[in-house]
Amino acid sequence: MGGVRTYLTACAVAITCGAGAAQAGCSGPYQYGVDELEQNVVKQVLVTTRDEIERFFDFRFDAFCMDEEEYGAYYDIQANTLVVGLEFFLEVANPPGNINRAIGVIAHEAAHAFQTKHGLLNMLVEVNPHRVKCIELHADFLAGGYMGWRSRLYDVDVTNMSEMFYELGDGQTNVDGHHGLGAERFLSFRQGFQTVTDDEITLSSMGIAYVSQAKCD
Ligand SMILES: [Zn+2]
Repeated sequence: MGGVRTYLTACAVAITCGAGAAQAGCSGPYQYGVDELEQNVVKQVLVTTRDEIERFFDFRFDAFCMDEEEYGAYYDIQANTLVVGLEFFLEVANPPGNINRAIGVIAHEAAHAFQTKHGLLNMLVEVNPHRVKCIELHADFLAGGYMGWRSRLYDVDVTNMSEMFYELGDGQTNVDGHHGLGAERFLSFRQGFQTVTDDEITLSSMGIAYVSQAKCD
């Protein structure tokens, strides 16, 4: 599903990164593996987040890549890689108190990997023909579930996070790529956040029930 992307504009915060050859799986011309980042807080957060997300959703990415030319974040189904635009990440994560916003975006993209693994993309289409929106709201719900789980270990401001999902909403209800109105994305994320479970399958089923209620239209 090529359209699974979220876009924000760039920022100007500098970050140093390794200049080594692209890691297997990070094949784009401006991509490199998160593993290749120089040791710093950003790398530490990204490596830890990948590990936790993979445990929470019970799957493995083939690679987790930064991309210097990408202005969003996306999950590449064919390559099974998570790609995060460097500037996008820095913009969402700033000021430093907003690091959970960036992690929330990564969790949303990881949710698409989960949906792919479990064949949910087709199922969500059957729930409602408004394909993209159902899938996106379900991913917001799953991202919320992960952040709720994360909030037991770290300080997570659910209001700050929900606001971001509100801002990610779009009003293009007549367009195929419509992801959901701000209020719908806000509510899906929040509902997932408040769903307390360690089991990703249970979380996902509750998300499907929620999305089908929302009717996605
Ligand atoms: Zn998405």
